[in-house]
Amino acid sequence: MAETCPHLAYREEGDGKSFETARAFCTVTGSFVQPMRADVCNARYGLDPATDCEFYVEPESIEDESDATDADR
Ligand code: SF4
Repeated sequence: MAETCPHLAYREEGDGKSFETARAFCTVTGSFVQPMRADVCNARYGLDPATDCEFYVEPESIEDESDATDADR
């Protein structure tokens, strides 16, 4: 069963901007996720990040770079 992508983070600032609400951020591409792709990142509608996202990489190699995932909780 697909789960939320391990590379998905939420950030309130980036690209020189800040946001009131944290936005989906991909730690693989180092950029904010477009709304349509967020469905893949969150494994909605039966989508699977591992197979449906061309940016997906196996998590072990960049696990340490996703440290912002829980930063705002
Ligand atoms: S699904 Fe793709 S775009 Fe979304 S966080 Fe994972 S690697 Fe990044």
